Amino acid sequence: MRQRLQGAMLAVGLLILVSCTTIPKPASTGLLAGLTITVDAGHGHTRKTDHGRVGPSGEREEWVNLRIARELQKLLRQNGAKVIMTREKDEDVNLAARASIAISNQSDFLISIHHNGSFNDTTLDFPLAYIWGDAERNPASVDLGRAILNRVDQKLKFQSGDGSGVYSDFLIYNEGTSILRNTNPILPGVIGEMGFFTNAAGEARMKDRQANHLEAQAYLQGLIDYAARGIPKAIPLKPVGSDFLRPDSPEIIFQLEDGQGGHAFDSGSIAVLVDGDTVPHEWDRVTGRLVATPPRCAHETVEVRVYGRNENGNALHPRRWDFLTMIGKENDWHGPWYVAIQRADSLRVLLNPADRDFAVKLDSTILWFERVLKAQSINPRGAEAEYRLGQLYEMRADWLKDDLAKEKALDHFNRVIAFYPTSKFVQPAKDEKVVLEEVF
Ligand SMILES: [Zn+2]
Repeated sequence: MRQRLQGAMLAVGLLILVSCTTIPKPASTGLLAGLTITVDAGHGHTRKTDHGRVGPSGEREEWVNLRIARELQKLLRQNGAKVIMTREKDEDVNLAARASIAISNQSDFLISIHHNGSFNDTTLDFPLAYIWGDAERNPASVDLGRAILNRVDQKLKFQSGDGSGVYSDFLIYNEGTSILRNTNPILPGVIGEMGFFTNAAGEARMKDRQANHLEAQAYLQGLIDYAARGIPKAIPLKPVGSDFLRPDSPEIIFQLEDGQGGHAFDSGSIAVLVDGDTVPHEWDRVTGRLVATPPRCAHETVEVRVYGRNENGNALHPRRWDFLTMIGKENDWHGPWYVAIQRADSLRVLLNPADRDFAVKLDSTILWFERVLKAQSINPRGAEAEYRLGQLYEMRADWLKDDLAKEKALDHFNRVIAFYPTSKFVQPAKDEKVVLEEVF
């Protein structure tokens, strides 16, 4: 029995060995190796609801998008990239989920594949790429969009190619498109609209599998061209992890990498923005260290973005870094809920409006009750914390004539009723009835 089993295992082993040797090696150029690219096939499963995204002979945009996305997935993998697909079949994936798929997979780039339509002018047929916002704020996405369009213009024939270019998605919506707006704080991305399905020749091209392949190749080549100029990165060195901007040494330090193994940047292009304002910096081109000192601020966090171009002209993606200040660090509670409620309650019973620093103590008490819920939203004294917050915010509203506090009080009382329907805090004790009158 054992011998037979061993024989069988040996046969399986050989089989694996044989099949392994027949897998073709990917023809990797190396430039995309190690990158994670999210490929988003626009729309999906809207046949019954969306009668607009369809060409004159019935080809639907979402089908074309998916075919090209799959081709691109294959080509990118052959080139050593890790590919994340937001959808792989004719299904509807909501826009927020598409963005979070790209972010949670730590993608380096987002490519969202679409095709354009115009029922006003069916002669239109040219490719374009959208970026979020504007060129000044989003330079790396512009670089990437331009690189892809160069290859698309080369590989595909368009009826009216003159409009080809990178456009801002603010031309479509005031705040831009959902997927680009939501991914932009972390990674660069483009929406490609490669031709118009409302144009008969455009639609014919989109139905042609060979043209689909060429379009996917254009994306691939564009990405390779872009990567060949080096993908610059700004890596935070200070503060890192749970550290914060200490008042005695508030400088922020980044390591700038040009994407080609060095630190070759155009020094005039480097800028550090803290909460939207440029702050002074020092740049060491030998070590690649960039040191900036933010002004003192009274917020819990500062928002930092680094701009710059490597010597080949590729821009850093100015991703958003939020660093804790000392105030933020002090308020950054990670303790358990039961410690927080003990502290909160001991502060609450000592509150006295006659105290000179009543307002500060009140805010501190509010903060501790908020920590109870932040530490664990479902806990045995959650209803109590919500109810106390309602009371404390009412106090704040009366004391500081703060209308926002009045709204917050009502919010917390409503939450007690909605989320803890059987809690004793829903039915107030007699002396506390006044507080809840508005709610019922
Ligand atoms: Zn579309």
